[in-house]
This record gives sequence, C-alpha cells and structure tokens, in this order.
Amino acid sequence: MTRPALDDAARERGRQNAVQARTQRAQIKAKLRAGSLTVAQVLQRRQDPIVHRLRLREVLTSLPRVGAARAELLAEACGIELERRLGQIGDMQAKRLLAVLASIAPDPAGSHEIRGTRSASGPRLVVLSGPSGVGKSSVVAYLREHYPQLWFSVSVTTRSARSGEHDGVDYFFISEDEFERLREESELLEWATFSGHSYGTPAGPVQSRLAEGRSVICEIELQGARQIRAVDPNALLVFLAPPTWEVLVARLQGRGTEAHHVVAERLATAREELAAQGEFDVIVVNENVADAAAAIMALLAG
Ligand code: 5GP
Repeated sequence: MTRPALDDAARERGRQNAVQARTQRAQIKAKLRAGSLTVAQVLQRRQDPIVHRLRLREVLTSLPRVGAARAELLAEACGIELERRLGQIGDMQAKRLLAVLASIAPDPAGSHEIRGTRSASGPRLVVLSGPSGVGKSSVVAYLREHYPQLWFSVSVTTRSARSGEHDGVDYFFISEDEFERLREESELLEWATFSGHSYGTPAGPVQSRLAEGRSVICEIELQGARQIRAVDPNALLVFLAPPTWEVLVARLQGRGTEAHHVVAERLATAREELAAQGEFDVIVVNENVADAAAAIMALLAG
C-alpha cells in the first residue's frame, strides 16, 4: 500500500528537478544575453547535465543582436544543425563555432550593438573596407562564389591592371580624362585618390541593383566609406581588420605585387585606416576568409 506514495514522491522529485533544470538553463540564456557569460564558457561545460540539453539555437538567439535568421547563418557557417544539443557538439565543431563568433568583433566603444542598422532586412549597400593587404578581395571572391544573391560593384580606376586582373571584372581600367568626366558628371557614388591613383564607384549600377531588391557589396577604402556614410545612412559599413599588425605586414610584403616603396606607402596608409575603424558599424577580424564571409552574411541577415 506504500508503493503509490513512493511513486508520488519520486514523481514530485522529478518534477522539481525538471523545474530547477529549466530555471538554470533560463539563467544561462539570460547571462549570455547580458554578456556576463560567454559561449566559450558555456561550451566548456557542455557535458554538465544541465548545459548538455541546451540547443545551439537557444544559445545563439540568446546573444545580443542574433535573431532567428542570423542564428541560422551562423550555424550553417559552423556546419552544426541549429537543433543540435550542446552535449552532442564535438570539439572541432565547438572550435569552429567560436572562430565564427570571434570574427564578429564588438566595436571599439565596447558595445556589441551594430550602428547604422536602420533597415535590418531588405536590400542593403554593404561597404567592405580595411587596410590594403587585409584580404578584402579574397573575402569578396569567397562571397561571390558562395552567395549568388549578392551583387558586387565593379569600380573604375586609373591604375593599370595587375597580372591576372581583367577589365570589367576586377575594375574598369580607365584614363585620367575619363575618370574626370565621370566625376564631373556626378556618375560616381564616391571616389578617392589612393596611392597616387583615382578610384570610384559607378553610381548607376549600384542604384539599380538596390532598386531591384539585391544587396550590393562594394570594396573601397576609407575616404570612400566616409562618403557612402554621408549619402546612404542605411549602408552597412564593415571594417575588415587583420588579426595583428604583423600579419598585415607579412601579407602585404608577401603579395609581391607592389614595389618596395609602394608597400611602405600602403603600410603608412594602413596605420591611418586602422585608426579610423571606430567609424564603422562593425569590425570583422579576418582570421580566415570563410569565417569573415559568414560573419558578413550573418550581419546582413539582421
Ligand atoms: P588596389 O589598387 O589594391 O586594387 O586598391 C587600392 C585601394 O582602393 C583598396 O583599399 C581598395 O579597397 C580601394 N578601392 C577599390 N575600388 C575603390 C573605389 O571604387 N572607391 C574607393 N574609394 N576605393 C576603392
């Protein structure tokens, strides 16, 4: 006759344990939201029975500014299903997840908020800037290959083509006179002089693609980014940063496409550009091209 009483007690204990576990999981999510707990710390405890049951989706959407769409892109970039429980995530996957998250760095003011995000969804002009040699072209090439929904602006320049570059693909290589004409006729969205040459973004194609509903990526330097900020407050300004200064120097010197004095000049400009990264909406650290591209797509998804 005592058995039903024992069962009741066991059931009650089980119910209380479940409530406690749910409360603890809610606390973890609240701490992630507040920034007092990091994903790395949560992952370290992923064999703990409470943390084990958390799903990746719950973790990602608890992070500041990560909604359902961005969580999906982040999960895709890491190759982990969104509904996977943390306890089932392997070491390599955990590493990749942290690398993708780390590439979305907070801005220098210390806020994880992304400025200039008036339109979280819908077509957007994305300005990809950053010092020469940081890997902007590689990130653009990766985005071009993997995200056909984007459209890439082709700039005009007065510098001559490097070997392997094609007119109309990498740039439109034009004369000083032609550049002057485009500038005078207000056919450039922005323009700048860099390393003794002129560069500019043709306005017409960018405006028609945005009107068609496609997001546009334009890879430009700092002065141009500032002009875009002035003409399109809805543009997303992304600063691609090197992991360290030494990495940037090595990449620029190793590229071997410029003469010694040009490399020195570009490094001097790079210092100025790095000092201006606080003007951008977000800083993405280019540890590796795939993660940087995934981070940009996640930002675009809002
Ligand atoms: P590069 O000569 O190495 O191709 O480019 C030199 C710099 O000019 C890079 O920082 C590149 O992002 C920038 N750039 C390329 N196209 C444009 C453009 O249309 N406008 C501006 N402002 N900068 C550009």
